[in-house]
Amino acid sequence: MPNTFFSTERSAIPLATKEYRGRFAPSPSGLLHFGSLIAALASYLDAKHHHGKWLVRIEDIDPPREKIGASQAILTTLEAFGLHWDEQVLYQSQQTQRYNQVLYDLATQKLTYHCQCTRAQIKADGGIYQGRCKTLNLPKQNNAIRLINHFGINQFNDLIQGSVTCDQALAQEDFILKRKDGLFAYQLAVVVDDIFQDINHVIRGCDLLEPTARQLSFFATLKQTPPQYGHIPVASSAQGFKLSKQNKAQAIDNNHPQPALIAALVFLGQATEKEMINASIEEIINWAIKHWQRDKIPKTTEIVIA
Ligand code: GLU
Repeated sequence: MPNTFFSTERSAIPLATKEYRGRFAPSPSGLLHFGSLIAALASYLDAKHHHGKWLVRIEDIDPPREKIGASQAILTTLEAFGLHWDEQVLYQSQQTQRYNQVLYDLATQKLTYHCQCTRAQIKADGGIYQGRCKTLNLPKQNNAIRLINHFGINQFNDLIQGSVTCDQALAQEDFILKRKDGLFAYQLAVVVDDIFQDINHVIRGCDLLEPTARQLSFFATLKQTPPQYGHIPVASSAQGFKLSKQNKAQAIDNNHPQPALIAALVFLGQATEKEMINASIEEIINWAIKHWQRDKIPKTTEIVIA
C-alpha cells in the first residue's frame, strides 16, 4: 500500500538493532484496577529492563463506554506507582484523520468492503462471519467496513506463552475495521497506532491473545513488521467481584501504593524482598527493573487471585 503515513524504515531495520519501544494502552472505560496495574507494570519493567522507551496511549475511541475523568485518573495512578512514561501521551480520539486515511488507502486497493450483517445474523451463521456481504457491493451508509483478510494468520510465537494457535475460522474472518455506528474498531486503531508510534514490543494481558492473530494479519496487509507480543496471565477472582475491592492488600491506593505494587510483582513471578514494604516507590521500581526476569512470568492465561 502507499505509505501515506508509515515510514518504510520501520520494516527495513531489523528489530534486534532498534531501540526497544513498548507501550501501555488502556481504554478509559474505568479506573485502573489490580488487573490493569499488572499489565502496566509488566510492560514498563520489560521495556526498562531492556533500556527501552515506554509509551502510554489512551484508547479513547469508544465514547459511549468512556467514563468521565477516567483518562486523567489512569495517568495519575500510573504516576503514583512510579510508572513514568516517555514521550507525549497519545490519545486515539486525536487520530481520526490517520485512521480514515488508512481506510481510504485500503479501499483504493479493494481490500475492504461494506457489510450490513447484524449480530443476530452472524450468530445464526454459526457465530463467525462467513463473508455474506463480500460481493454485494453495498453502500457506505449505515454499514460496517470489513477487511478482506488475505492472511488469516492463526499462529505466532509469544514472548511469554510460547507458541500460540488461535481458532482457524476466527483468524480467517474478514473482521471489522469501522463499525456500523461510525466508530473505529479496536483492531484498526491499535495496529495503526502501534505502527505510528513505532512500537516493537507489546506486553499485555492474555485477554488479548486471540485478537493478536487478527492484528498480525492486519500488519501483514499493511506490509509492516509487527511488534513482538508477550501476554501475561489475567488476574481473575473466582467470585467475579471487582479485584480491587476483593482484597485490601491489592486495592489500588494512590497514597499508599507499596502493597499493590508488591502484590503485582508476586503475581508476575518476580522476586520480592520483605523490606520492600518500607521502601519508597522509586526504590521498589528500580529494584524491580534490575531484577526483572521475563521467563519467571507464569505461562498460563489466567490466575485466580481471590
Ligand atoms: N485498550 C485495550 C484495553 O484496555 C488494550 C489494547 C492493547 O494493549 O492492545 O483492553
